[in-house]
Amino acid sequence: MSYQPFAYKKADLHHYNQRKYPIDMLVIHSMAHDAMEGIARLDEQKLSSHYVVDYDGTIFQCVDENNRAWHAGVSSWKGLNDINSRSIGIEVCHRSLGQSNFNKKQIKSLINLCKDIIERNKIAPTMIVGHSDIAPNRKPDPGKAFPWQELAAHNIGIWYGSRFSEEEDVAKMLSEIGYNVENEENIATSAYAFCRRFFPKKIVTMPTKKLLDNPYPNNCSSLLKDSAFIRSLQNISMQYKLYGNVKKGS
Ligand SMILES: [Zn+2]
Repeated sequence: MSYQPFAYKKADLHHYNQRKYPIDMLVIHSMAHDAMEGIARLDEQKLSSHYVVDYDGTIFQCVDENNRAWHAGVSSWKGLNDINSRSIGIEVCHRSLGQSNFNKKQIKSLINLCKDIIERNKIAPTMIVGHSDIAPNRKPDPGKAFPWQELAAHNIGIWYGSRFSEEEDVAKMLSEIGYNVENEENIATSAYAFCRRFFPKKIVTMPTKKLLDNPYPNNCSSLLKDSAFIRSLQNISMQYKLYGNVKKGS
């Protein structure tokens, strides 16, 4: 029997297959439905997620962690592509797809769930991502208001630290974090996804429907020359690097 530290409700999703790799990533999503609607919608679209966290913090387990759920789609992180094969996916219910604040009770429940998953599967903070981090051209979730800083205080993901990199090559720093920078479009959309997660002041608020069709504005390449963005990137890329170094030495 799989280890369960607290109660989950079960709501089976049916579209999944076998993993090709061991679990070493956690992907956080948001969806603009409550849990029951969202679960029905995923099933209809032949998609799935291991967990769904409802508005009130109720956790639904939908696919066994041992199976490969279908939540990430075409995506990339640190040059890895079959993210579904190596990750656990969590959908967080949020009507505006993370354009406005999340419910405190829901985030508390999400933090407990993440801590449990991370501890059991030994997932590194550098491998905890939002859907928009791994698919910046296609996906806006979990959204600009998702509380990454609060999660990082519980070692769920990376946040700002005291040291800055002196690197000035934006693409190089984005790629050191894990973002896909294989062409000009990817560099610009990855910069926008970086801001969505680490520097949300730079993100415009769009209606949910528009956001789903068009997760980034046309002019987002202007970010690449923005000095405040570059300063943030010099800090965050350094934290990813430091974490990598600590790991190798231990
Ligand atoms: Zn998603």
